[in-house]
Amino acid sequence: MAQRALRTCWTWLKTVPEGCWRHCNQRRRDKLVIVQRNMALTNLNTLGIAAKASYFAEVTSLDALATLLADTKLASLPRLVLGGGSNIVLQQDFAGLVVKIALRGVQCEALGESRLLRVAAGENWDALVKSCLQQGWYGLENLISIPGSVGAAPIQNIGAYGVELSDVLVAVSGWDLRENCLRRLSASDCELSYRSSIFKTHLLDQFIVTEVELKLSHSPSPNIRYQALADALPSGVDVTPELVAETVARLRASKLPDFRLEPNAGSFFKNPIIEASNAAELQAEHPQLVSWPMPDGRVKLAAAWLVDQCGWKGQRVDGVGVHPRQAIVLVNYEHCSGGNVLALAAAIQEAVSQRFGVALEIEPRIY
Ligand SMILES: Cc1cc2nc3c(=O)[nH]c(=O)nc-3n(C[C@H](O)[C@H](O)[C@H](O)COP(=O)(O)OP(=O)(O)OC[C@H]3O[C@@H](n4cnc5c(N)ncnc54)[C@H](O)[C@@H]3O)c2cc1C
Repeated sequence: MAQRALRTCWTWLKTVPEGCWRHCNQRRRDKLVIVQRNMALTNLNTLGIAAKASYFAEVTSLDALATLLADTKLASLPRLVLGGGSNIVLQQDFAGLVVKIALRGVQCEALGESRLLRVAAGENWDALVKSCLQQGWYGLENLISIPGSVGAAPIQNIGAYGVELSDVLVAVSGWDLRENCLRRLSASDCELSYRSSIFKTHLLDQFIVTEVELKLSHSPSPNIRYQALADALPSGVDVTPELVAETVARLRASKLPDFRLEPNAGSFFKNPIIEASNAAELQAEHPQLVSWPMPDGRVKLAAAWLVDQCGWKGQRVDGVGVHPRQAIVLVNYEHCSGGNVLALAAAIQEAVSQRFGVALEIEPRIY
């Protein structure tokens, strides 16, 4: 299919004050952005949904991002900021501008026994985790094998095997679309919580992450508080961060389908968090209920258990199905539309609501 390439003009409407941003001395050609029309997104979302974007641009520098945002023809269009596409559902063609963040670079500064990393948003998360381990910078090992970009990690405060991004995050920088300027938010400003942040609430669609700062440790301190991880470690050996990473990667590979072979978006539903009194009632009725106490006194339920109990594991409807080993992973076996994926999700939500009176919330962002 022919794609018409438009070149945005070289205007640089927003001047970044000197010294305020370390990336601002980019070469002039870095401002160039190529905007493509009718871009296929099938290979840019891990659910393999065959949707198109009316306009698509990949930005590799802050200057290019500023050029794109200053383009008056594109400014009024709906916008989708894209990383690795591993946490989105495209309901239909996206009638707007998709901005793929491809900023690259990692800087490291020693702070005593700690290391402060400044990582550009377009870096691959899993590659970062592996490279940190090789350098002897610890803290990310439990978060190995999570697909996607570094810039998306704070959006839903990624987490796995007992560690969340919030454990190592120092700050997030990016383009504030309300003020039209670059801004740095401290970790506490980001309001990170379970699979959520300010970028999903007050700053929804208002902030493009360009850089993430992480504090890692130079001395190993493996976190094996997550029971399934502790149980999977070989006995009688020293637990090192490398062993933790290896074990988490092995557990994940045994439980989660590879999206390149079985297109999926990881956990399709969040684990619901309910009041302790409601949890106690459910537990009395369903003694096998899988749950975890939360620090605030509420109780988190295992969404996978709820879905499994409703008989959905391994079921397929219209080319989309529930993975046979993971009840919260929906697989788009036949590269169907987002509508098919969401129809299956709605049927599961209805079943869980009917049986347990619990509302399941969809984790990926729907566009
Ligand atoms: C097999 C599999 C396993 C997974 N396992 C886990 C897991 O263990 N834990 C976990 O937390 N998640 C998991 N996920 C979900 C997903 O990998 C993470 O949410 C990841 O951070 C998404 O990154 P991405 O770059 O692909 O984001 P995208 O899917 O491209 O985007 C997700 C959302 O973030 C926004 N966004 C992306 N980049 C930026 C940016 N630079 N600035 C502003 N907004 C942005 C997008 O607009 C969108 O709303 C899994 C997914 C898959 C497919």
